[in-house]
Amino acid sequence: MIIAIDGPAASGKSTTARLVAERLSFTYLDTGAMYRAVTLAAIEQNIDPSDQKSLKDLLEDIDLDLSTRNRETQISLNDRDVSELIRSIEVTANVSAVSAEPLVREAMVVMQRMIGNRQDCVIEGRDIGTVVFPAAEFKFFIVADYAARAHRRQLDLERLGEQRSLNDLINDLKIRDQKDSSRTHSPLRKAADAIEIDTSNLTIEQQVTLIVDQVKSRL
Ligand code: C5P
Repeated sequence: MIIAIDGPAASGKSTTARLVAERLSFTYLDTGAMYRAVTLAAIEQNIDPSDQKSLKDLLEDIDLDLSTRNRETQISLNDRDVSELIRSIEVTANVSAVSAEPLVREAMVVMQRMIGNRQDCVIEGRDIGTVVFPAAEFKFFIVADYAARAHRRQLDLERLGEQRSLNDLINDLKIRDQKDSSRTHSPLRKAADAIEIDTSNLTIEQQVTLIVDQVKSRL
């Protein structure tokens, strides 16, 4: 069974998806971490995402391994733990451009389908309910207003020792939303049959319960 959880950055979907997976004893798959790892590899190898030949070579050489430890996504890139590096400001600033490349999307979607077809999964991303698993049994689309999203991002960054103003963060989120929603391939979009949840004024516990209750009531 697949529970697809899509939505824009900092909408609360990662925390929600992880906890829903824990409550239902499903595997949790953070597809954003996969796109971030490819972006990190491209940055480290100085590859321009529009250079198709280099991108293809890069994707052929990449081995990604995902797991969850202490409730956090652990990801290794060719056997190197990059779980923290993929959250850097540089990766975040470049991930939308790399993710917009069809070669990258094709490679990631193959992996995502392989993982999802093997076990019950909660999969979070931008295109899970629309493209990766259009027949997912459950689809949720998580949204929140910019103030709430920027505040959450600010708290995340504070934990990493970085200070950013709310205005700056709102600006970054708007730019990333614009890029993710306007790309040609698999743009960020709510599936017609997805249930929309606005988390602006919800606690994490309320978000998780809403989804878990929906799932349980339909099983
Ligand atoms: O979810 P997170 O913010 O970590 O995702 C990082 C970026 O990866 C997104 O801004 C988007 O460009 C890309 N992404 C995507 N498709 C997904 C998941 C993430 O294009 N399914």
